[in-house]
Amino acid sequence: ESLINRIAAGEIIHRPASALKELLENCLDAGATSIRITVKDGGMKLLQIQDNGCGIRKADLPILAERFTTSKLSTFSDLSRITTYGFRGEALASMSHVAHLSVVTKTKTETCAWKANYLDGALVEAKPGQTAEPKPCAGNDGTTIIIEDLFYNTPTRLSALRSASEEYSRILDVITKYAVHNPKVAFVCKKTGSPSPDLSTPSSSETSHAIRLLYGHSIAKDLLHSTFSSKSKPEDEDMEEEEEVEDRESWTAEVHFTNANYQSKKMVFLLFINHRLVESSRMKRALEAVYSGVLPKGASPFIYLSLQINPRDVDVNVHPTKKEVHFLNEDSITDQISDTLQRALASQSH
Ligand code: ADP
Ligand code: MG
Repeated sequence: ESLINRIAAGEIIHRPASALKELLENCLDAGATSIRITVKDGGMKLLQIQDNGCGIRKADLPILAERFTTSKLSTFSDLSRITTYGFRGEALASMSHVAHLSVVTKTKTETCAWKANYLDGALVEAKPGQTAEPKPCAGNDGTTIIIEDLFYNTPTRLSALRSASEEYSRILDVITKYAVHNPKVAFVCKKTGSPSPDLSTPSSSETSHAIRLLYGHSIAKDLLHSTFSSKSKPEDEDMEEEEEVEDRESWTAEVHFTNANYQSKKMVFLLFINHRLVESSRMKRALEAVYSGVLPKGASPFIYLSLQINPRDVDVNVHPTKKEVHFLNEDSITDQISDTLQRALASQSH
């Protein structure tokens, strides 16, 4: 049975970067404004992520790494995210099956922090002879999740990984994208023992600043911006202020994209749907095609697109950790965004 659990967990957690993505989303769900990541050996030895979010109640710790159960559902009572993705509550459980998982957490009302260790879905003792229950310790408000020896018990997964430096660059890539999408959150990522971070963003920045900071200043003068929604006409491009997003709209989009002066060898496409980083090769191809008459052959744009659609319209049959998404009105939404880009690029060239 534990072998089956391990295999199942390996389907959810493919590599250090996919574990990190889940952990990042948990921090952001917890309302963190500061997220600090420490990595050893490309995340294979250690992946540690510290946030200043709401923390986890001590009472919830015993079932934190249980697979999705009714008890977990009623204890955590977080129906909104379950209806959003149809299939949730698996990330920490999965990690406990393929790594050593520990958690240090403190809510505002708790007088001290609590530390808990997990193995195969259950709370375990930190040292032999100790009881399997959370231990009081010093700590700030928020949560630190520590993942050690990822895939120590799944040699197939381990051998499918690349070098530590390649795994590390995938980790940085995931953080970079979430940092663009969450410019008000401060992110820091460093290797253990390294004096200086490899990635560091300020909090209280704006999307366009974050893009410049993370994807290079050469993008700056060539970046256009547009927000629009299903019911309104597209706004003027390059507008300064952000539109208030209204609930009754069935979808809204915010897009930052480079103009014809910016050329990259490879297309950079960041797609967030309802704040989750996802992939849509169809949408990517459609938007890249808009540039085909504008950019010289072999040159590609940078596009960051944040879409908010009714969770009801996201295909819940697609497992959330499969990054390729499908959603209702995919084609018409893609068409509208393509049109907006097209018009912006055309008006720029006049
Ligand atoms: P899910 O996010 O789908 O609920 P997870 O296994 O990722 O499943 O997390 C389980 C639960 O643990 C979350 O619903 C949340 O209540 C709690 N949790 C996990 N990470 C954090 C965190 N960094 N801060 C606060 N709560 C957290
Ligand atoms: Mg989660």
